[in-house]
Amino acid sequence: MRITHRIGGKPWTGAAERTGDVHDPATGAVSGRVDLASASDVDVAVAAAREAFTSWRDASLARRTRVMFAFRELLDARSADLAAIVTAEHGKVLSDAAGEVQRALESVEFACGVPHLLKGGYSENASTGVDVYSIQQPLGVVGVISPFNFPAMVPLWFVPHAVACGNTVVLKPSEKDPSAANVIAELFAEAGLPDGVLNVVHGDKEAVDRLLEHPDVKAVSFVGSTPVARYVYETATRNGKRVQALGGAKNHVVVLPDADLSLAADAAVSAGFGSAGERCMAVSVVVAVDPVGDDLVSAIADRIADLRVGDGRRPGCEMGPLVTGAHRDRVASYVDAGREAGAELVVDGRDHPVDGDPAGFWLGPTLFDRVRPDMSVYTDEIFGPVLSVVRVATYEEAVALVNRNPFGNGTAVFTRDGGAARRFQNEIEVGMVGVNVPVPVPVAYYSFGGWKNSLFGDAHAYGPEGVHFFTRSKVITSRWPDPSHGGVNLGFPQNT
Ligand code: NAD
Repeated sequence: MRITHRIGGKPWTGAAERTGDVHDPATGAVSGRVDLASASDVDVAVAAAREAFTSWRDASLARRTRVMFAFRELLDARSADLAAIVTAEHGKVLSDAAGEVQRALESVEFACGVPHLLKGGYSENASTGVDVYSIQQPLGVVGVISPFNFPAMVPLWFVPHAVACGNTVVLKPSEKDPSAANVIAELFAEAGLPDGVLNVVHGDKEAVDRLLEHPDVKAVSFVGSTPVARYVYETATRNGKRVQALGGAKNHVVVLPDADLSLAADAAVSAGFGSAGERCMAVSVVVAVDPVGDDLVSAIADRIADLRVGDGRRPGCEMGPLVTGAHRDRVASYVDAGREAGAELVVDGRDHPVDGDPAGFWLGPTLFDRVRPDMSVYTDEIFGPVLSVVRVATYEEAVALVNRNPFGNGTAVFTRDGGAARRFQNEIEVGMVGVNVPVPVPVAYYSFGGWKNSLFGDAHAYGPEGVHFFTRSKVITSRWPDPSHGGVNLGFPQNT
């Protein structure tokens, strides 16, 4: 199957000088070929978006809202189809893909109410006979660049907000699982979004680089790994664009001695191995505060033994393959690296039984104990099913460890002590914090964003900060002359 760009409301092939393979990760087979955009393909998409902006910026809020509601209904009705596409190209199991689409739906639902946040303010008689008011206006063409691990949800963190605010979009999804983006664009077209308001270009660095430098692209929303996020932020800001660039993660869960260990072990396994660890909010480090280490490690290992790894389309499978063969090999290399560095390999995922085609990109859940912060299994974002347990003596040591880590996306504390939890949420230098909740992804009416190397820029994704990011405010000071305007006055205007 050939996967083409969608520009101006239609499939668009261009010269298609380069293509990339798309795999079914559960079989290893090539399932499609995706066109990889050249800089001139991107130019065509940006031109379509720019043209569409001239009218979409003035589309009434009522019209934009109706499109968003219609899109919400279509997305809901087709959610199972979209989840199946996600599973086929990403590999996550169907129930997980359905969860991704459900969270995407919540972002769309928030965008249905965006007019409430575009109201601006009005101060009557700021000075005598002078009113001051603010309006929120769209930026223009915005670029959205998304990662492979949430091919439906991450585009929908940004596109609905951008469009509801009156912008037009060029979306560049991951070339590893590109089909979900085309489905999203088709559903938006069916919902009544005018041609050119949402365009999809597929591609890699070449397409990204053109978006980062194109003079008609006013803002960039990026999600991906930290090195690329930093590059996108630096390059696009240098080119005068507004940028939010969300990066990678190394999420720690701190288990205090008074925690419910069964809840904590369930959480570590669910959040460590859900989506094969390919979530930016996955737990990759469990910090066991003495004396819980032995009991916690054995509870986690017991649960791992029961996990069903296999083809995400087969009933009962809980964890699918990794996204590509190259990524699986990289993740698997950490099993040896951890052991060689002196960590204790409690469960070797290479031995886990698999309910799927042997040619799939498999690696079972892996557990290390007694990991130290200088080991590569600790320092690197592995982005796979490899969970490390670090043992510390005290709460203070646990917090210092988390705060020293260069990433700051998500974290959680497991405890029965409200005071300890409150102290943790105050002291921890991480953007999203769970209290007995392992994957604390904020609901759509808050915003999503990490600290430190997990986010470059000052606006978090979606929710109120998303609306802020996709608009700029204009303040108007206005007087309607009447006979008492007072005549010429060269003094600095004073509010009287
Ligand atoms: P990635 O950085 O490899 O790719 C992300 C996007 O950038 C893709 O569209 C890709 O085509 C493009 N890209 C890749 N290399 C590039 C380069 N050198 N120059 C310009 N563009 C480039 O990330 P990925 O592997 O697709 O996704 C996984 C990463 O994303 C993980 O690090 C994960 O933590 C992170 N992530 C973060 C969040 C968050 O909210 N912070 C959410 C999801 C994923």
